[in-house]
Amino acid sequence: CLFVLFFVVECAIIYLGLYRSGLDQLDQLRLERDRVQAAYEVKSQFVSVVSHELRTPLTSINGALGLLRTGAYANDPEKARSILEVAHKNSMRLSALINDLLDLQKLEAGHMSYAFEQVDLSSLVEDSIEGIAGFAQTYGVSLRFDAPEAVALVSADRARIQQVMDNLLSNAVKFSHRGGHVDVTVEVTDEGVRAHVRDHGTGIPEGAREKVFGKFTQVDSSDRRAHGGTGLGLAIAQEIMQAHGGGIDYESEVGRGTKFTITFPPS
Ligand code: ADP
Repeated sequence: CLFVLFFVVECAIIYLGLYRSGLDQLDQLRLERDRVQAAYEVKSQFVSVVSHELRTPLTSINGALGLLRTGAYANDPEKARSILEVAHKNSMRLSALINDLLDLQKLEAGHMSYAFEQVDLSSLVEDSIEGIAGFAQTYGVSLRFDAPEAVALVSADRARIQQVMDNLLSNAVKFSHRGGHVDVTVEVTDEGVRAHVRDHGTGIPEGAREKVFGKFTQVDSSDRRAHGGTGLGLAIAQEIMQAHGGGIDYESEVGRGTKFTITFPPS
């Protein structure tokens, strides 16, 4: 009789154990299903945004080329030229968008490779300023650079940091007022090396941080019309700075301008 009792209790324990582990497995399966579903939703939302972003400039290029093809402007070279200009601008936008998308995809998949070397941040910033000078001129904006006395050595992938600086400088120019200026400084401190890009333009309203660093997002919906851009530049810059063990941030006041800062850890 005692043996039967033991046997029943043993069976009950085994049954309860199996039941509990079955429940645990079910919970894990549910969690996994929710994770896959969420990833799928993010992906399909991304694909729909990307398709829209690609379609917009393409529609414009098709429209412009279609107009020229009719020959309606054969006797009006001035008008034909301005239509070609629209097609060209949009094809540049398309290729910038594709480059940004490829970069982002590589960064998010962890496939971006970095060639770290010792770089003098001041000379890199000078190169960026030189490269952007023509663009700044078209906006009537001047660029000023205040280099530190000390050498600002950082461990960095030169091309990638150049890409970050180009993005910060071109944004500062785009959002400056005509005739304005942008101040660039490099600072060497015990906590690391920093570069600041300060404009005196439109500024960014409070609470827009997610849009500033988000993908395909711009603070003002009219920004794209007025200044172009993909809304990917700062999302990419943030990933690049994180891979350097540093960061990117800004301070801003509407109507007074914005200061973006990138930080490198002490080398
Ligand atoms: P975009 O290619 O559109 O410039 P970014 O990711 O570089 O994309 O910037 C995202 C958005 O952040 C910009 O469209 C703009 O709304 C805002 N922004 C970035 N820099 C500045 C700035 N210096 N002044 C005002 N707004 C800015």
